[in-house]
Amino acid sequence: MADRYLHFTGTAPGRFLTRRLSLPQPAPLRRWSLETPQLEGPLLHLTAGSGAGAGADTETGAGLAEVLAGVGLPVVGRADRPGAVVLDATGVTTAAGLGDVHAALHPVVRTLAPGGRIVVLGTVPSPDDHHQAAAQQALEGFVRSLGKEIGRGSTVQLVRIPGVRVPDVPASGIRLPGGGATAQGAASTLRFLLSPRSAYVSGQVIELTDATPEPVTDPAAPLAGRTALVTGAARGIGAAVASVLARDGARVIALDVPGVREELERTAARLGATPLPLDITAPDAADRIAAAAPDGLGVLVHNAGITRDRRLANMAADRWTSVVEVNLDSVLRTTDELLKGGAVTRGGRIVATASIAGIAGNNGQTNYAASKAGIIGLVRSLGPRAAADHGVTVNAVAPGFIETKMTAAVPFFIREAGRRMNSLSQGGLPVDVAEAVAWFAQPDSTAVNGQVLRVCGQSLLGA
Ligand code: NAD
Repeated sequence: MADRYLHFTGTAPGRFLTRRLSLPQPAPLRRWSLETPQLEGPLLHLTAGSGAGAGADTETGAGLAEVLAGVGLPVVGRADRPGAVVLDATGVTTAAGLGDVHAALHPVVRTLAPGGRIVVLGTVPSPDDHHQAAAQQALEGFVRSLGKEIGRGSTVQLVRIPGVRVPDVPASGIRLPGGGATAQGAASTLRFLLSPRSAYVSGQVIELTDATPEPVTDPAAPLAGRTALVTGAARGIGAAVASVLARDGARVIALDVPGVREELERTAARLGATPLPLDITAPDAADRIAAAAPDGLGVLVHNAGITRDRRLANMAADRWTSVVEVNLDSVLRTTDELLKGGAVTRGGRIVATASIAGIAGNNGQTNYAASKAGIIGLVRSLGPRAAADHGVTVNAVAPGFIETKMTAAVPFFIREAGRRMNSLSQGGLPVDVAEAVAWFAQPDSTAVNGQVLRVCGQSLLGA
């Protein structure tokens, strides 16, 4: 459904009136297209902290410079109007060192181009060094606050790259292991965050592992040769996911309930995908998925989901059961069976769909929020084991207010609140969720595991 307010604020009288009334000022977001594949303006690379972090003179720092060069923007040390800023704050290990973060970003924050990106690189807060832990955790509060105030469609994120404690390093005792290889693990994440593909992602913290990334042979078709199955793909977010994975070169199998067979076939035909009419709750669902992908699945996206809203006091048992069955139980069951049977190939990617309701909770959605919080539990627990046992990563997207048929049915005032109550003052589009799924699916996203990425414009609901 068209966002008329966003359109109105894009006109001169609309801008004048809404500013006078101190109403939200959503900036039109610049999303990825063949014509606009990159941000506008150079990438400003800054460093904060003089500890044992990843300054340009360390091996990791050199690896990072190489990774930033691969993002596709000219990398500079000074810029009047940067399109993106990367602040390497891995070396910030004390409260005093946080002053460097202010010193680095205070002069540039006003000069960032509209729709710009700020990515702060940090490391994991140490359980053994409370000064380092405090300084690194401080970066999270910093990033989440800057995301709320930056405006003009710009976004701010924190990416934690792994660090280990080594006794011979003074002060913090933290050094980044793996040198350039650690930085290489961040390549797909930085490509995503420093591009128009992450337009509706802000205020997020992403923690990478030290897994070695797989190579991407064809950057224009990174998923070439892989089969991707998307559940709930007839329409909405699932159809967008199928479309973006096909764009990235995957052979796509689009699954949806037999009841929407015609819509599924139309969507599949449009994308050159194979339709698979199947209810994901069917007892033989995993077998039928495996049979539909005889060469194995490189990407499995659990997107199908339903709502049956009622307050708990008025909720009949069938409303509870059906939501938990579709949104969580079938995801657990099919994932287990497909992994055990080897249907998800090594280097495979599993992406599930949570929701900000599963993080913040929502009135009338105890069943839905429980099922979506369950997805978060699944991802965090299974991710490390799936990587160790099967060479597969497991992550989730947690969409906020996304413009789909589901949200178009929401009453006007609640819909308007959903759209505006985030740092970007607008709803997201299905493609925003799809781009995040495609980032998880990249061959070189091996170090992205057990993560839950909110695609919510930094919604005020939840963390
Ligand atoms: P949608 O209702 O438009 O599409 C969901 C699809 O899943 C439909 O095509 C439906 O037929 C299919 N489906 C339902 N039950 C199924 C089953 N048993 N087997 C196979 N397919 C089944 O919803 P959407 O807005 O595109 O949402 C997609 C996912 O994103 C869902 O998991 C939803 O909970 C989640 N989500 C959406 C939003 C939003 O704002 N739209 C926000 C947070 C999370």
